Amino acid sequence: MRRLYLDHNATSPLRPRVRDALRSLLDANEPANPGSVHAEGQRARALVEQARRAVLAQLPGADGTLTFTSGATESNNLVMRSYAERGPLVLSRLDHPSVVATGEVLEQQNYEIRWVANDEQGRLDVEHLASLLDGAALFSIAEGNNELGLWRDVPSLGALCRGHDVALHVDAAQTFGRFRVVGYAHASAVTLSAHKAGGPTGTGALYQRHGAPTVPLATGGHQERGRRPGTENLLGIVGWGALVRGLETTAWESLAPLRDTLEEHLVSSHGALVNAGEGRRLPNTTNLSLPGVASEELVMAMDLEGVAISAGSACTAGSIDLSPVLLALGLPKQRAGTSVRLSLGPEWTKSSIDDVLARFDRVLARLRR
Ligand code: PMP
Repeated sequence: MRRLYLDHNATSPLRPRVRDALRSLLDANEPANPGSVHAEGQRARALVEQARRAVLAQLPGADGTLTFTSGATESNNLVMRSYAERGPLVLSRLDHPSVVATGEVLEQQNYEIRWVANDEQGRLDVEHLASLLDGAALFSIAEGNNELGLWRDVPSLGALCRGHDVALHVDAAQTFGRFRVVGYAHASAVTLSAHKAGGPTGTGALYQRHGAPTVPLATGGHQERGRRPGTENLLGIVGWGALVRGLETTAWESLAPLRDTLEEHLVSSHGALVNAGEGRRLPNTTNLSLPGVASEELVMAMDLEGVAISAGSACTAGSIDLSPVLLALGLPKQRAGTSVRLSLGPEWTKSSIDDVLARFDRVLARLRR
């Protein structure tokens, strides 16, 4: 049976040009420490800098610095810990654990964290946000919410932050490399990750406007201008550069009709309830509850039926805890415990949607019997 992958928000498979770039680097098999002064080192350094330029070229108007990291988790930690020294951080409990858990740890260390309220559709309470911004150092928000698919309006949040003289940090892990990016000119810092768009895992970056503070997470060598010590992840960086060079976003951008077909069928034939479905969403994502069917049970049954889906985010799956994001939305426990996230990628077509819906029909009929 053909496997169908409905979990692109966890990670998206490597694109062919990324695989080609990785293969040629592996085949060259040269010693390659970009920090070395000899010719081998300088060739590696050139590859890193080419990739840096390619990533920066995808951020319109970006003239700041790009620091390569191990991914969005590290970039979020780096920016939050850098600004925590300067004043309160304003965060949303709907965001990724790399933000929420870091905020909670900082709180325990007596830094001030202010949590912005949201409604049951995941919309931020803008008046509350405006009141929290007074005297704050940083507002951090995920442009594309990994679990619910909410797509935040970065330009208007940027304008709000500017009005309060607060730095804006955009976590673009779920949007960069997939969709045309707008409005990052409003941000002081942007978190990027390679693997959600089909680049290598363990690779990401923090973009920062000139003058933005950086407090490195580790002590060590002078790599990345001292912002991120440690020998660079050359394979990851080169693979990511290959992904973003000549980037095409139309395949991701045209997924909404397929997502809608999937969602409408589950709603009309199986009584699914869409979570946070009213506002603007990433075109590839739906989060819905199937009353009477426990999330984990559906994930396992669909897996046996050849379909990869996720209960909540991949980072909370595997534990029996209910998704803190769904609880922060204000959903009843019953509904949170029957929720799954389905996230499409560019390989999806109308006929694969028909195929997956037939599999959902079989599984749901069996589970509900
Ligand atoms: N932020 C968001 C919005 C994400 O979706 C993810 C990945 N689930 C992360 C941060 C963490 O990314 P990484 O895997 O690159 O550490």
